[in-house]
Amino acid sequence: TYAYQGKVAVVTGGASGMGFETVREFCKAGATVIMIDLSEKQLTTAVGRLSHDCLNAVPKVCDVTDESQVEKVMSDIEAEFGRIDFAYNNAGIQSPVAETAEASGAEFDRVLSVNLRGIWNCMKYELQVMKKQGSGAIVNCSSLGGLVGIAGRGAYHASKHGVLGLTKSAALEYAKQGIRINAVCPGIIHTPMVDSMLESEPDAMDELMKFQPIGRLGQPSEIASAVLWLCSPGASFVIGHALAVDGGYTIQ
Ligand code: NAD
Repeated sequence: TYAYQGKVAVVTGGASGMGFETVREFCKAGATVIMIDLSEKQLTTAVGRLSHDCLNAVPKVCDVTDESQVEKVMSDIEAEFGRIDFAYNNAGIQSPVAETAEASGAEFDRVLSVNLRGIWNCMKYELQVMKKQGSGAIVNCSSLGGLVGIAGRGAYHASKHGVLGLTKSAALEYAKQGIRINAVCPGIIHTPMVDSMLESEPDAMDELMKFQPIGRLGQPSEIASAVLWLCSPGASFVIGHALAVDGGYTIQ
């Protein structure tokens, strides 16, 4: 456990899955946590699911694909809380399986706009606050899809490879300014995103388990603990790293 009293953390896509679990862990560590997601309704439900020891979560509606909304939410956070110590840029979407020759360009743009441009938007305005402080830690959500390809998932994997490019370049830019930027690459984690994929592709679970060396899916809390570590002083010499937390998926 970490002592993050007095620290301010921002988590995008914080109402569900790994984002939600990361909100919970930052809260438990004592940080004030701004949970960003698409709708008031999702956020209200999510705040209701946090236990009574997580009263320091602050919901804010923002669509990370919209640069002006991101600019506003980050400046509101700075005005209200004075700083941003940690950011987990986690909001992301999956896309239906489609081989490249048949895939939709609009779908490609949609996935890239959330998973890649969304992260760029958030980093840009988080960094403006962190530069003033001369400190901060950002973790961007990539994926096993940032490290390997999977047939039929070109748009998603392109977006997640892109996240690693953004992460490494920005890590170099801010390394001397006390700001560390890393990425986490989750494997197959049991979240609502995976549940909805399994609903539409019922055979997918058997397929998935063939590639799970550890013999099970990951849990959102196993990603949250990696994010908290990357933000911690224990990771003070770690920058631009793509941390696979995938039960061995990408070492095969
Ligand atoms: P999830 O669907 O449970 O949660 C994602 C959250 O992001 C949702 O609450 C959603 O409303 C929010 N979101 C989506 N678009 C947004 C936008 N434009 N602005 C703000 N919020 C938005 O998903 P999850 O499985 O917890 O995934 C979280 C991240 O982890 C994603 O980036 C995903 O690509 C990545 N990932 C997931 C897995 C997995 O197996 N579940 C594996 C690797 C990487």
